Amino acid sequence: MKPFTVRLNFHGDLDFFLPSKTRRKSIERSLSEKTSIKDVIESCGVPHPEVDLIIVNGEAVNFEYSVMSDAEFDVYPPGIQSPHTRKKRLQVHTIMRFVSDGHLGRLTRNLRLLGFDVAYDPRAHDRRLLEVMERENRALLTRDRRLLMHAVVKTGYCPRSEFADEQTIEVIRRFDLFRFIAPFTRCLRCNAPLQEIAKADIIEELEPLTKIYYEQFRRCTGCSQIYWAGSHFPKLQERLEQIRANFGG
Ligand SMILES: [Zn+2]
Repeated sequence: MKPFTVRLNFHGDLDFFLPSKTRRKSIERSLSEKTSIKDVIESCGVPHPEVDLIIVNGEAVNFEYSVMSDAEFDVYPPGIQSPHTRKKRLQVHTIMRFVSDGHLGRLTRNLRLLGFDVAYDPRAHDRRLLEVMERENRALLTRDRRLLMHAVVKTGYCPRSEFADEQTIEVIRRFDLFRFIAPFTRCLRCNAPLQEIAKADIIEELEPLTKIYYEQFRRCTGCSQIYWAGSHFPKLQERLEQIRANFGG
């Protein structure tokens, strides 16, 4: 096969994944054999779950599209408007169940604080993460691009920021979760739902001051941890306000 050249224009924040020395949003690749567009995109460092739309010659194509001659592609992340908004979107828009890798403990805690279901085991190996992802239909959260490129990953996201609060906002934005925020409904330790519980039922388990100052309590249906406003609410409130500010709400 005669060698040919493929040019990829990456839109939105997909340049995050490109080699930093190029500092350009376009990359050219010389190929000499038929290659799927998915492989060409990933060879540039961009994991396929980050790609929502691929356009060539004005047409939206999927990941299996074969590249075999000179061509120019436009590659878009989720959330970018284009004339092809409704056609051939490659990613799930909203998903509410996640599995996060062992480096994202603080992000996990934040998301649980907001009520989201996040499986997390700091000791889990990659294979285990992928198993949980597939079996429980969860989106994978990881900053490990190689892991995100794994063929079995359908839905996933690589937080751009190193900071948990910013990562939280990114995840809410990517999966359009703002309207589903339900603070104080999920256990930070084990991810099980919390249940309201009468003070009288747990009064023996409370510290003296907690007994005096608080009236509303919730108990984890998984690990039995007891939560009340004084223990977690101020911090949660602060984060919520920060998040709302980011969404202009
Ligand atoms: Zn629990």
